[in-house]
Amino acid sequence: MNNSGLKNIPSIHEVIEDSRLQELINCKGRHVVKDYIVKITNDYRKEVINNIDIENNITKEIITNEIIKNVIDLANIIERKSLCKVINATGIILHTNMGRAPLPKGALDKVADVAGNYSNLEYDLLKGQRGSRYESTETLLAKLTGAESALVVNNNAAAVFLCLNTYANQKEVIVSRSEQIEIGGSFRIPDIIKRSGANMVEVGTTNKTYISDFGDAITQDTKILLKVHTSNYKIQGFTCDVKGEELVELANNNNIITMEDLGSGVLINLQDYKLPYEPTVMEQVKKGIDLVTFSGDKLLGGPQAGIIVGKKELIDKIKTNPLTRMVRIDKLSLVALQEVLKIYLEESNVTKNIPILDMLTKDIDELTNEANNLKTLIEEKLNEKVEITIINDDNATGGGSLPGVVIKGVALKVACKNTSSNLIQKKLRDYKVPIICKIRNDDIILSMRTINKQDYDIIANGFYDVMIRL
Ligand SMILES: *Cc1c(COP(=O)(O)O)cnc(C)c1O
Repeated sequence: MNNSGLKNIPSIHEVIEDSRLQELINCKGRHVVKDYIVKITNDYRKEVINNIDIENNITKEIITNEIIKNVIDLANIIERKSLCKVINATGIILHTNMGRAPLPKGALDKVADVAGNYSNLEYDLLKGQRGSRYESTETLLAKLTGAESALVVNNNAAAVFLCLNTYANQKEVIVSRSEQIEIGGSFRIPDIIKRSGANMVEVGTTNKTYISDFGDAITQDTKILLKVHTSNYKIQGFTCDVKGEELVELANNNNIITMEDLGSGVLINLQDYKLPYEPTVMEQVKKGIDLVTFSGDKLLGGPQAGIIVGKKELIDKIKTNPLTRMVRIDKLSLVALQEVLKIYLEESNVTKNIPILDMLTKDIDELTNEANNLKTLIEEKLNEKVEITIINDDNATGGGSLPGVVIKGVALKVACKNTSSNLIQKKLRDYKVPIICKIRNDDIILSMRTINKQDYDIIANGFYDVMIRL
């Protein structure tokens, strides 16, 4: 035990009055900073008690300096953990770790309006009485997808679960072994099926499944033929996949339900934009699949939501499942989804007006142009400190969509002279608006496709601050 180390620890009061902490106190509040000081001081005390090597004649001033530094560091760490905007310069469009789809401006305004006021969430303005919270969005979904009816819940995992639980609890679901997928965040089809109460009957093999495999497996207990879109990987080579139409025919002959978990719900034909084919929700509905589920915040470009479209009779029964209430969508996501769907229905410039689609469909000329603009801004701020070149860059859609598809893009390669790119990458991540970027061959890479034009100034200022303060 070390006496002077303990004796010289400043009091909480002494530390909190230190001028170096006043800015932090103004920003976070006195009681918050006091909590930090108590924690850091206690940690320090424990360290002194446990560490006999600590200097004997350590002064109060040294200890105070140490405590103040640690308090500021702790405040920064805690700040970094609170949810905030970041700039995604990775070129991964639906970045699951960065919140998937950013919302269109118009939808955000409507969210603010509904959130900050009373709304007609469950009030029918035409009749002056209680109404349905889902009606508007479900009507839009039915119109857009050609389905008879729709239901919106918290996310697609919940949508899949609800369909299975409503129709196959204690009964059988048949699914191909090639579609036993896991997407991130512990969503595994076999687990979801099991938890829904259904018995999973696996058919076929990893690379080949035939319609006869499904046919042979049908029993009196079979309720659902399930198809899962392999949205985050592709099986290539010697393969055979059962087509939706085949499943529909088989199911109709046996009076059972077909269901497809589409994962990412696309409402536009991506091939029109020189992107690879991805089945649209409309196509699957048209094939006669009874229940189609998909996410609101993948390629649809809306808020987190799970959407079920399909036969009215089937969806009506799902609505009466008590579990539906537990996975209800909140009003803010609901209004955001409503507004995004309106863009699909009402506006001609869909890909320009939905941020995810705008990013996905930008061509090389447009990206090069933007790269030049950002390059100029950063150079103006930093001139000889960095060397910037415009390079080709491969982008990915991410977020469990368009597996294996590489989209050609453009990036800025920023070579920071005499400074480690790892350090710069970290400092950019620590910037007040965190800038998340890749490193390649010791250069910082800023992928243009996922960077919002409105953030160019922030990026240039970020580089300036980071390079000057280094
Ligand atoms: C993404 C995905 C899900 C989960 O959707 P969430 O909206 O994240 O719950 C389920 N199935 C497939 C095939 C997916 O791609």
